[in-house]
Amino acid sequence: MTIELDLNGAVALVTGAGRGIGRDIALALAVAGADVAVNDLADEAACAAVVAGVEECGRRGLVVMADVSDEQQVEAMVVRVEDELGPLSVVVNNAGITRDNVVMMMSAADFDAVVATHLRGTFLVSKAAARRMFRRRAGSIINMSSVVGRRGNAGQVNYAAAKAGILGLTKSLAKELGGRGVRVNAIAPGYIDTAMTQALPEEARKLIVDNTPLRAIGAPADVADAVVFLASPRARFITGVTLPVDGGLGV
Ligand code: NAD
Repeated sequence: MTIELDLNGAVALVTGAGRGIGRDIALALAVAGADVAVNDLADEAACAAVVAGVEECGRRGLVVMADVSDEQQVEAMVVRVEDELGPLSVVVNNAGITRDNVVMMMSAADFDAVVATHLRGTFLVSKAAARRMFRRRAGSIINMSSVVGRRGNAGQVNYAAAKAGILGLTKSLAKELGGRGVRVNAIAPGYIDTAMTQALPEEARKLIVDNTPLRAIGAPADVADAVVFLASPRARFITGVTLPVDGGLGV
């Protein structure tokens, strides 16, 4: 039996999609048949290149630059996506930053910035999408957490708190929206090879690989495949879960 992950007719919004994991998610959704709005805070040219990739798949794409932690920008972004591409059916809250430091050296500003981007951003985008999906009784929201949100990590109090918060938000929203046919799930990637992790020293990378049962670093496409599955009708009875994509690191 082949598993079809058909997203024909879907309209997706992926935040933080100018590069890294978000970029691969946008392209994988397009390959599966979705029209895709590509959001990021910076680098409009990179977003335009992702949209060109979406269009090469025969799908419609749209660049929507916005800061996901800004309520007005988020609302305007969602209105524009629906005006130009149609009713949103898939939202992927992927935008993220890190400001790592040990707690005694971590500024309140760095704590707030990380929580604002990940947790407030996921709340604002989910809220704007949920209002619309609720009325239409259909939709899938996928939130990017992390193995760090499940297990914690020294030097990442801000990031771990935000990613753990996303898990609570995901489960609560799944309960609020399930009765209206809207599914809400999270993905918890382990170590994925992107700009966010390439900054780590070689020793730290080696330690992570040694502690990963599959003894490897993940690729953005590994996370993108999980997103496509959770967005697709094949996951129609799955809501409120956290799917680890981590080579076993979180076990
Ligand atoms: P990345 O830094 O390569 O990409 C993140 C993107 O988000 C960037 O393009 C950035 O401009 C954008 N962004 C940041 N703040 C934004 C804002 N306020 N509004 C809109 N866009 C914003 O990171 P990545 O490695 O691709 O990570 C993507 C997601 O996956 C993040 O949520 C990250 O925490 C999570 N994650 C990554 C890993 C990993 O190993 N790389 C592991 C677990 C979870």
